[in-house]
Amino acid sequence: MKHVAIIGAGPAGLAAAETLSTHGLRVTIFERMPSPARKFLMAGRGGLNLTHSEALENFLPRYGESAAHLTRLIEAYPPADVVAWAEGLGQETFAGSSGRIFPKAMKASPLLRAWMRRLDAHGVEIKLRHTWTGWSEDGAPLVSNDGTPPAPIPCDATVLALGGASWPRLGSDGAWRETLAKSGITITPLVASNCGLLIAWSDHFKSRYAGEPLKRLAVTFEGDTQRGEAVITRHGIEGGAVYALSSTISARTHGGGWANIVLDLKPDEPHDVIANRLRRPRGKDSVANWLRKCLKLSPAAIGLLREASRDLPADPDDLARLIKALPLIVKGTSGLDRAISTAGGVAFESLDENLMLRARPGTFVAGEMLDWDAPTGGYLLQATLSTGTAAANGVIRWLNV
Ligand SMILES: Cc1cc2nc3c(=O)[nH]c(=O)nc-3n(C[C@H](O)[C@H](O)[C@H](O)COP(=O)(O)OP(=O)(O)OC[C@H]3O[C@@H](n4cnc5c(N)ncnc54)[C@H](O)[C@@H]3O)c2cc1C
Repeated sequence: MKHVAIIGAGPAGLAAAETLSTHGLRVTIFERMPSPARKFLMAGRGGLNLTHSEALENFLPRYGESAAHLTRLIEAYPPADVVAWAEGLGQETFAGSSGRIFPKAMKASPLLRAWMRRLDAHGVEIKLRHTWTGWSEDGAPLVSNDGTPPAPIPCDATVLALGGASWPRLGSDGAWRETLAKSGITITPLVASNCGLLIAWSDHFKSRYAGEPLKRLAVTFEGDTQRGEAVITRHGIEGGAVYALSSTISARTHGGGWANIVLDLKPDEPHDVIANRLRRPRGKDSVANWLRKCLKLSPAAIGLLREASRDLPADPDDLARLIKALPLIVKGTSGLDRAISTAGGVAFESLDENLMLRARPGTFVAGEMLDWDAPTGGYLLQATLSTGTAAANGVIRWLNV
């Protein structure tokens, strides 16, 4: 029986293992960490957004320039297949009001447990604390078991699914880039994508509001407005509403610059409606209580108003203007340490149509280590699972089994 080595037990590697083992191939997964899919589990902490329900003609352009390479792969394993796969593992899914698709359990752990059970039933072997370090002279993948000298793994094909370089403490640190570059493989520089914004909050604000959510807001930078949710952190602000702006903001703040963003804390209500409500007499209410009652502003939103303007404007029109256009100065974006994803990676020009490295016949590449990028919204896991499946199908074609 032909044997395939998969390096990396993230969702791309596990998806490849599922397709290969279903096809009757012997599969061993090598994972450097003591447990599999740590980033996938982390992704489930804020609600595991598996994919998106929008039509493919709207879905595919989310990948920007990389759509040219991903279209064929996502069409072969589209969002409907991701939903069917999750439901087949016992995880019912639903589409949220934004069209994003989540498992009803919201977390990744029940899905991962069922997935690992299925792979086990298929005979997939998983070797934890095993780190891939490169290739032997005769081209076999070299793997080190918990610090032992790297040994060659006899196999007929290899799938590299080593992830990007964000959240390195979860296992994927981008260390593969030097090894691959030495083999003549083109690597587009790895940069943080979908990351938080750094803001110099006052001590009072961060001690009081770090961790507080901002539901339903709109954030504008240089004419680009994104709606969504965000969370105040000690260092600034994170969440869907700012991730989509982070690449442009990063470019502007690179090298010590700063960027002005504008928050609309009531994006669904026009200025006049807000100003009229603010004309109601305050009575004996504190300002915070009055704002909460007449505008349903959250404590964090009220804190933000005070952070931007210590003495809130007394005039209802001026206060409504501040609520609709609250200015904040951003001094940078959080780096790879806390970014949701990594842009850059193995250039598609280095691969053939089966996702096989032209410079290393028999070695296939999948997941976030490929050079594609997308906003949050389920597009990251969708491309990860589609490319994991595509690389496995590439192996099957190449081995002619
Ligand atoms: C906080 C957070 C929230 C997220 N939420 C979502 C979401 O809701 N929806 C969404 O679509 N995406 C989300 N993502 C992104 C998504 O998790 C990733 O795109 C996805 O995990 C990439 O899968 P992968 O298999 O390519 O890489 P990874 O998940 O990074 O897996 C790669 C694996 O390879 C292992 N590895 C690396 N190098 C070696 C080596 N040399 N030897 C052996 N093993 C190695 C790593 O330890 C790791 O286990 C989120 C990411 C983060 C950080």
